Amino acid sequence: MSAETSHATRQAVLYCPYCAEETLFPLQTGGWECRSCMRAFSVTFLGLASRGSIEGSATAGQEST
Ligand SMILES: [Zn+2]
Repeated sequence: MSAETSHATRQAVLYCPYCAEETLFPLQTGGWECRSCMRAFSVTFLGLASRGSIEGSATAGQEST
């Protein structure tokens, strides 16, 4: 957990995902706290989105002509 404490490789979160306020402050545990709704949260990178899976689901309903 101590190896990922650098914030140099990511942008700061600008808006609270719950109340959309900008009163975000970084937590020492690596997450963020919103002082408007008093929620604490963290942002996790899950990986790159697969373009093929997005196009496949979008065109799935256009098979019947
Ligand atoms: Zn909030």
